[in-house]
Amino acid sequence: MKGAGKQFTLDSSQLKVSSVSVNGRKARFAHDEKRSKLRVSGVPGRKSKVEIDYTKQVSDDVIFGLYKSKYGKDFILATDFEPSEARTVFPCVDEPACKAVFRLVITTESGLDVIANTPVSKKEAVPDGRTRFAFEPTPKMSTYLVFFAIGNFEETRMQADGVEAISATRPGQSGNSVLALSFAAKALEEYQRYYGIPYPLKKLHVVALPEYHTGAMENWGAISSREGYALITEATSFSQKNRGAMSMVHEVAHQWFGDLVTMKWWDDIWLNESFASFMSYKMTDRIKPDWGMWGVFLRDELFAGLSQDALSTTHAIQTKTKTVEEAIHLFDAISYNKGGSVLRMLEAYVGEDAFRRGVSAYLKEFSYSNATGKDLWQALGKASRLPVSRVAREWLTRPGYPVVTVRTTDGAIELSQRPFRLRGGRAAGVWPIPIVLRLDGRERSIFLDRKSARIRASVRSEILLDPGRTGFYTTLYDEQGYERLAKSFPRLGTNDRSGVLNDLYLFLEAGMVPPELYARFVSLCARTPDPITTQIVTEQLMTLNSIAAECPLIGGMNQGFYPPLIQSFGEDPAPGEPEFVGATRDYLTSGFAEADEGYARKMANRFGHFATLDSNIKAAAAIGYAVTNGASAKATMQEMLKSTESEVDRAKLWQGLCSFREPGLVEETLELGISGEVSRSDSGYPLIYASFNPLARDALWKWITKRYDTMKDIYAGSQQFYLYMGYAVPIAGVEHEREARRFFAGRRSKEGGSSVKRIMELLSIYARLRRRLLGAGN
Ligand SMILES: [Zn+2]
Repeated sequence: MKGAGKQFTLDSSQLKVSSVSVNGRKARFAHDEKRSKLRVSGVPGRKSKVEIDYTKQVSDDVIFGLYKSKYGKDFILATDFEPSEARTVFPCVDEPACKAVFRLVITTESGLDVIANTPVSKKEAVPDGRTRFAFEPTPKMSTYLVFFAIGNFEETRMQADGVEAISATRPGQSGNSVLALSFAAKALEEYQRYYGIPYPLKKLHVVALPEYHTGAMENWGAISSREGYALITEATSFSQKNRGAMSMVHEVAHQWFGDLVTMKWWDDIWLNESFASFMSYKMTDRIKPDWGMWGVFLRDELFAGLSQDALSTTHAIQTKTKTVEEAIHLFDAISYNKGGSVLRMLEAYVGEDAFRRGVSAYLKEFSYSNATGKDLWQALGKASRLPVSRVAREWLTRPGYPVVTVRTTDGAIELSQRPFRLRGGRAAGVWPIPIVLRLDGRERSIFLDRKSARIRASVRSEILLDPGRTGFYTTLYDEQGYERLAKSFPRLGTNDRSGVLNDLYLFLEAGMVPPELYARFVSLCARTPDPITTQIVTEQLMTLNSIAAECPLIGGMNQGFYPPLIQSFGEDPAPGEPEFVGATRDYLTSGFAEADEGYARKMANRFGHFATLDSNIKAAAAIGYAVTNGASAKATMQEMLKSTESEVDRAKLWQGLCSFREPGLVEETLELGISGEVSRSDSGYPLIYASFNPLARDALWKWITKRYDTMKDIYAGSQQFYLYMGYAVPIAGVEHEREARRFFAGRRSKEGGSSVKRIMELLSIYARLRRRLLGAGN
């Protein structure tokens, strides 16, 4: 509580308080709903017993805070608090640094189960026929990590080094929870060893919730998750299985890093998230060495971070915020992706062992308490005896990153750096960049901490910056450099090929290279079947197809890229192939089905066996079926959608339902997503998948302008909403830039944070790229 003596204030929102007593005596109180504060007067001293009687009406509309996670005619009443929803369920000091011990007692209709952070200490019938559950006291912890869920659960149990790992699902689903639970259990064992600190609680739940607004949440001792992540099986498509497994490993990392030691305030949220992101790759790689996790890291973390950090609306990883509303906008690609990439760079700098020792010392020192980034750098510096704080400061406190330009002249190589911005324009700044340069097979290190450097060297055949791709910057070569890269392309490593394509794609968006140069390297990829690079290029081509499908160059790239690679990887799994090859098949077949009607029609006949079909081609089959059969496919697919228990399969059906050639049908799909007739966990899928369909672009734009506020209400204004909009709006609005500007200008006062600015910037980048691709100049 805050304040002492005559008055104190608690955070409290959407609660109806009927009485407050202090040390057994009634106290005066006032509720300020606008500021979410409960003020209590007449407090005798600093240590008092405060009792508050209040009620909370659970809304049917939201899927955040305390909400009904519905399935069929039933529901699970569950909580999801991060960052500031705890105050909507109990009055408290709702700040991460105000840790407390929670003793939960929950009385409910008999026959229902209750799950919370700690085990049940006592379960008893009360005279009115209901059941009362008392839970063991929690350790000292932050309010945003409190969790409880009430419903009918099926549980599965596993032992993890003496800790009980338990999955909880709605009835009939426990069989599908085993794989994700086993990842959580294995991760728990790995982390105990890595951190050198025993798991601080007696049990760890993974609660699968049928309606869930984000991916998963690290509530201490009771991870909650969307079903799409927690209910995966060996037969699930690799991308989804991988995402589910990683999500478990991520949330288990938080049980120490985040839950045991918590950031002081939300502006250090990146510390939690980038660390858990980085660790989820490290530990998943240990559990599944054949999953190619570091390739996935490039695709989903490094390149995603480089993409967002090239916007002028980006922010430094470490950004001061005063209010929690501002902090919500920090749950973004910079906190997760750039932060994780910078940690990877730092680990490479101090060495793996010193990094682990530093992390362990930091966790031990700040257990059950709070810390800041500075504390972690100090611990890493101490463990490695290197100036970690200085290096970290440069990359953490400055937004953006540099592009390094490479020019070869007679007998010398010139390197120069400047800040990289997708929208161009001038920005100042020089980064200290440790660069590794590979020349004709030999590596040499350069520390570029000024604008440019000239190195005496001659190049015969090969020049490559940052082999293995660990740096957080892009590289622009001169004409000769790209000639050499094109020649050596088949011999490059996967990370290097992916890196070249990633940078060229960003330069294309920025208007720094001609589209033909990018197209040339895409065609080199088509001749070099490389699973992860193929996935990365597919994502790029799908975006280009979404914003400028009419452009002949894009059509040519699609035709030159997909068919040879589909031929190489095959449409059906080969015995013994690595699992990530299956994921590549998923990307290729669905990407080509979105771009080419003929191929979509070819895949349509696979749809008849949807339930038993190889999961990696389900999306392509669903797209094919929708494209071929239009309105008559709609009814069948919608019925399947409503009756399909598996969120993973539903995602594939959504992709089909968004691929109709008829925009009106896509609009009906978008409506279905928010109708309440289907799981609200799914409401983001139609937005994303409709973005892939250029024929539905205008319908999607109109729908967004009509339903923006409804969608926002479903997500109670959480960051997840902006993640979906950040995907869909820049594509859907690509021909409506002015209208979009007006649309958001009218909302500026309500939106506040940085997300809308970022969405608008990306929209204007796509609009400019579209004009350029269609030959209309800038
Ligand atoms: Zn996290």
